[in-house]
Amino acid sequence: MTPTQDHPADDEAADRAVVIGGSIAGLLAARVLSETFPHVTVIDRDVMPAEPEHRKSVPHGRHTHGLLAKGFEIFEGLLPGFGEDLLARGALVSDLQNSIVWYNEGHLLRRAPSDMAGLLASRPLIESHVRRRVAALRQVEIRSGVHALGLTVDADQITGVRTDAGVLPARLVVDATGRGNRGPAWLAEIGYPAPPQDVVKCDLIYCSREYRRVPGAQDFLGVLVGRHPGNPYGAGSLATEGGRWLVTLVGAGDDPPPVQPGAFEEYAARLDGPELHQMITTAEPLGDPFRIRIGPSVRRRYERCERLPEGFVAVGDALCCVNPVYGQGMTTAAMAARWLGACLRSGPADLTRRYFRGAARVVDAAWDISVGADLRFPQVAGARTRRGRALNSYLSRLHRVAAVDPVVGAGFLKVANLLAGPQHLMSPTMLRRVLRKVGNPAEIALVRSSASLSIGEHAVRVGGETQGRRAL
Ligand SMILES: Cc1cc2nc3c(=O)[nH]c(=O)nc-3n(C[C@H](O)[C@H](O)[C@H](O)COP(=O)(O)OP(=O)(O)OC[C@H]3O[C@@H](n4cnc5c(N)ncnc54)[C@H](O)[C@@H]3O)c2cc1C
Repeated sequence: MTPTQDHPADDEAADRAVVIGGSIAGLLAARVLSETFPHVTVIDRDVMPAEPEHRKSVPHGRHTHGLLAKGFEIFEGLLPGFGEDLLARGALVSDLQNSIVWYNEGHLLRRAPSDMAGLLASRPLIESHVRRRVAALRQVEIRSGVHALGLTVDADQITGVRTDAGVLPARLVVDATGRGNRGPAWLAEIGYPAPPQDVVKCDLIYCSREYRRVPGAQDFLGVLVGRHPGNPYGAGSLATEGGRWLVTLVGAGDDPPPVQPGAFEEYAARLDGPELHQMITTAEPLGDPFRIRIGPSVRRRYERCERLPEGFVAVGDALCCVNPVYGQGMTTAAMAARWLGACLRSGPADLTRRYFRGAARVVDAAWDISVGADLRFPQVAGARTRRGRALNSYLSRLHRVAAVDPVVGAGFLKVANLLAGPQHLMSPTMLRRVLRKVGNPAEIALVRSSASLSIGEHAVRVGGETQGRRAL
């Protein structure tokens, strides 16, 4: 084939991978690609700030971002010294069971020392540090201000990325363009069917405000209040670098947290538990509240595509974005990047199919936890199953027991932090401790049979086509 603007020369593409999107998922993917590809180019439409600052295409970066224990572990594995470096820049490490006030379904999880560590830092600090580490890799080049427009392909092999600065040749292209991604549309433009999608609308609004943190004024480093049908107001507040609290209030679209100072603090009185309301009514605010509407959870089922070009993969929110209240996005992005690294290490053959097949398993737990919890709200569309209801009622009981039993609390936090699969909630120890006062064998059998969490299926209709499947 003669090289043209749309079809770059084969040899130029052969040793290059291009990552579209230089946010958390794209940067972590670039990190693993650098082990296999001599040239990795990360492009992003934004101009990247030199310091940890908010940027236009990442409006969610202004809101509380907790890095789950599993995510912290993987970030540290991919970027050794990551935690220490961030601590030196003012981030904090917290014992997730002992230093965080958790309300689940109105029950205060009993605090107790644990081995689960979470990193508390703002999203801009985390991203800028990951960017600095990845940019320092010899194989990686980051090009800011470059807008991807589409893909190029030849004989079922991806050959490059069309951008507003010309075509970038590549043998592997990673779509890391986040929630608003155009991956399926780009595939359609080059003749491939778009992947089926699972979609669940949570219809939430986040509103966040910063406050000065006086060390020692509280005996906790965070307050996380889960929404539930009995109280649809939630919150996530974490201590962060610069001696600040970043406080996010979460409400449904028809009753959103207000952006007016004063009203914002009053809204926090609706939360389960007094801690956050008390804290923000006495703390010094640093700036005004800002708000963001949360789009639907979307899972793109590339693993179900009959045809895909070789050399295309998707990571992070471009693959699967879930309701952010469960704090899983950066962790699942890291898990997918790590899986991509494993696929690359076992050779280039059939990479795209192998990657998507395993990536589906990687995002399963986060998707199931998010969708299962969202379906407790009657206004969230999606089919409910008997097993799903049984599981949610088991979880309600578990939260009651976790208020007094730290072993049950630890078991729940392990799953919420993606350190253990959801089946862990139904381990013999957990079942015994959660259900011992109930002793109903039929109920225990039903919950046990739900243990795989591949329990029941629901179909979510998108554009008239049945596209979704899995649910709790
Ligand atoms: C309000 C909110 C709160 C959240 N809270 C948490 C939390 O507590 N914990 C957690 O782990 N996760 C949280 N998340 C999720 C988390 O932010 C993401 O999952 C994570 O940052 C990974 O995102 P990403 O890199 O896939 O995409 P993004 O961060 O959205 O980045 C996409 C990048 O692609 C670039 N881009 C897009 N299109 C193009 C194009 N055509 N050409 C070039 N560049 C392009 C953009 O400029 C951007 O830099 C939250 C999300 C939201 C919305």
